[in-house]
Amino acid sequence: MFKKLFTLSLIVATLLITACGDDGGGSGDAGFIGISMPTQSSQRWIDDGNNLVEQLQALGFRTTLQFAEDIVQNQINQIENMITQGVDVLVIASVDGGALTSVLAQAAAQNIPIIAYDRLITGTEHVNYYTTFDNFQVGVMKSEFIVGALGINAGATGPFNIELFAGSPDDNNAFLFFDGSMSVLQPLIDSGVLVVRSGQTDVNQVATLRWDGALAQNRMDSLLSAFYTDARVDAVLSPFDGISIGIISSLRGSGYGTDAQPWPVITGQDAELPSVRSIIAGEQAHTIFKDTRLLAAAAVEMVQALLAGEPAPVNDTTTYHNGIFVVPSYLLPVHSVDINNWYEILIESGYYSMDDI
Ligand code: BGC
Repeated sequence: MFKKLFTLSLIVATLLITACGDDGGGSGDAGFIGISMPTQSSQRWIDDGNNLVEQLQALGFRTTLQFAEDIVQNQINQIENMITQGVDVLVIASVDGGALTSVLAQAAAQNIPIIAYDRLITGTEHVNYYTTFDNFQVGVMKSEFIVGALGINAGATGPFNIELFAGSPDDNNAFLFFDGSMSVLQPLIDSGVLVVRSGQTDVNQVATLRWDGALAQNRMDSLLSAFYTDARVDAVLSPFDGISIGIISSLRGSGYGTDAQPWPVITGQDAELPSVRSIIAGEQAHTIFKDTRLLAAAAVEMVQALLAGEPAPVNDTTTYHNGIFVVPSYLLPVHSVDINNWYEILIESGYYSMDDI
């Protein structure tokens, strides 16, 4: 698997080198692509946007890239502008997957194909393709890490205290991550090896609107003061690095992170730099690496296929029902990252340099 990642990385590196040799804007002859990303508050979406621009421009496309800063109406306005500007294809990572029905109907009326990028767009027939990662597996990997780190695989029976966090309820991914995680955790909760002292195990109780780290920090504060004055938290399931950072701040405020009160096992996702540093410092224990260069490459292949009137490669035609139909999808693999393999996965693959860290 790692060899495959490395080979794909080489292909992407070649594309990026080509991009650097370009005039920067692409000739534009290949077409004009609108890229709508959800926010710049998380580095991964900035990287996604930049990767798409670089790879498309290297192939002669002109691009327009907009970030909605997590405001649904911004994203709708930005997409409307792209339609007016005459884009040939839209690539969209939605803020709220269910809020784009009417603007996408406008795009479809102009025959503009739509690619849902990483987040499923729901409630509309106007989505041609979806490219993302194996989202259920993301959740499984997080929980498997927790189970291993607590020694449960090696026979430890606890009971261990765990609290659960999920992502934004308007992002379909949040449910897949949580379902994947609970497929591993629920049997251990049922058998009493894991205890959720708050009792909050329903995705709607543990969701974090817009993946907001500050909201997660507040919720962790409340959990600690209501349920942990006389008990220790042994693990926290977190769906996203930005949320993990909020949880860590809360725990630090309660005295965790010392010899007397070591950190619980805390997961994350996206291998964002602050969290990679936190893993190296022994705070956050785990993250999931999703190579956004490969996601951009998959979206670019879809753009080219759509404009050529050919089918794009897909590898999942059953999972992503958007409420109207199953959107043909291309899923990429994900990688589990911890203190033992961050260098191999993140540095040796060329995703980050040691200077970044
Ligand atoms: C993405 C995750 C990301 C989260 C918050 C999800 O849709 O799949 O990688 O952590 O959004 O930005």
